Amino acid sequence: MSEAEKFDAIVVGAGPAGSAAAHTMAKAGLGVVLLERGDYPGAKNVMGGVMYGRMLADVIPDFMTHAPIERVIVEERLWIATDDSAVSIGHKTANSHGEIPNAFTVLRAPFDRWFASKAEEAGALLVTGTVVEDVILDNGRVAGVRTGRADGDLLADVVVICDGVHSFLAKRAGLQQREIEPHEVALAVKEIIALPKETIQERFNVSEGEGATIEIYGTVTQGMGGYAFIYTNRESLSVGAGALMSHFMKTKITPYALLERVKQHPLVRPLIAGGQVVEYLAHAIPEGGYKAMPKLYTDGALIAGDAAMMVNGLHREGSNLAITAGRLAAETVIEAKAKGDFSAQSLSAYREKLQHSFVLKDLQKYQHLPEFIDRHSDLLGIYPDLVNHAVHEMLTVDGMSKREKQKKIWRDLTARRSLWQLLKDGYQTWKVIR
Ligand SMILES: Cc1cc2nc3c(=O)[nH]c(=O)nc-3n(C[C@H](O)[C@H](O)[C@H](O)COP(=O)(O)OP(=O)(O)OC[C@H]3O[C@@H](n4cnc5c(N)ncnc54)[C@H](O)[C@@H]3O)c2cc1C
Repeated sequence: MSEAEKFDAIVVGAGPAGSAAAHTMAKAGLGVVLLERGDYPGAKNVMGGVMYGRMLADVIPDFMTHAPIERVIVEERLWIATDDSAVSIGHKTANSHGEIPNAFTVLRAPFDRWFASKAEEAGALLVTGTVVEDVILDNGRVAGVRTGRADGDLLADVVVICDGVHSFLAKRAGLQQREIEPHEVALAVKEIIALPKETIQERFNVSEGEGATIEIYGTVTQGMGGYAFIYTNRESLSVGAGALMSHFMKTKITPYALLERVKQHPLVRPLIAGGQVVEYLAHAIPEGGYKAMPKLYTDGALIAGDAAMMVNGLHREGSNLAITAGRLAAETVIEAKAKGDFSAQSLSAYREKLQHSFVLKDLQKYQHLPEFIDRHSDLLGIYPDLVNHAVHEMLTVDGMSKREKQKKIWRDLTARRSLWQLLKDGYQTWKVIR
């Protein structure tokens, strides 16, 4: 790179948001450089592992023929668990995928590498092992970035910031004015546990190429706001757990101890038995939602993905918001290029595009949820217990009539939680997820 080389667009970060943005702009003929601090894209990236087909197909329609997919998800289960039991709710389909599957698992190292290579094939210049240290400002407008390389200043009409959670560049570009609060970020840990594919298929009752997911809510998070997960890969399981940083601070539980407890759960242990831990990973997840989002555009810059708090934690969605936001940011830049106008006003079309998509609609829908979980994580201990007790009681055939059982369940329920409290919990929960 020569000093102060000029591009149409600089994209910072080759995660899902950055590669989607770079691919879309390069395909439209723009001169794009994609900068990644890792030695290769995905080297430092972590996720549970479920990606969504529709949003990836919007960028790479034929991805199914060449993307490094682990397993197509045919069954999703939700466990409402106590320490020794779970009420399981789930959905399984025999028709999981037409051409584009709804969801599939990936391992980020191969996936991110592949996605960035598609941006390269479309014409973007991928530069790895390069940390962006600052934005370059020209009369208050973002005009480029300063990298850690010796000849490292790069200029562009637009910088698309996709540097993930705790975005340093969002602050430097003036998009984020404050620090992220501990209740606005979760810390998640995960292990990749190797198992033979036949064992995975037998334990999860799936066929070759098919996979299952289990999300576990309840006492496993020990009163903290969060959940655990088990996702099937081809020859491994991704087993993880996460909770709000504010709750880790309050309880003094360590993320490692949290995951160990999940792995020791009597319903989890048989699923992972005999497995070999091949990787241990930890990463933050931005959970602050709509209210914690930074400004999304300024003169000469846009921000997408985790860097912009675009995560829908309740639905385990982040990668899809990142890919869609990256694509929409790119489409905004392509239009700005046609007008020759990269001012904040011109780039404000990005926010409108997001507003018309599921991204902002969903984040707005759940905008009160992060505070609610921060304040009411005790419900994740109380209700799983009550629900498991009620179902267990109802399913136990012990000679008591069903009407008697109903009465007993109600008595037990109201002894633990008054009617007034039950109504209040129900109303408050409904208010934040309606
Ligand atoms: C444990 C865990 C489980 C998750 N599970 C799921 C799931 O199952 N499904 C789902 O959809 N989402 C999940 N998520 C969320 C999902 O991973 C993110 O929402 C998604 O990765 C966001 O993509 P991104 O491109 O915005 O950011 P990232 O994937 O974080 O990518 C940012 C990139 O920028 C690079 N970078 C950062 N700073 C710089 C710099 N200064 N210079 C150069 N490069 C830089 C990083 O190295 C990285 O490659 C999970 C997250 C975690 C942590």
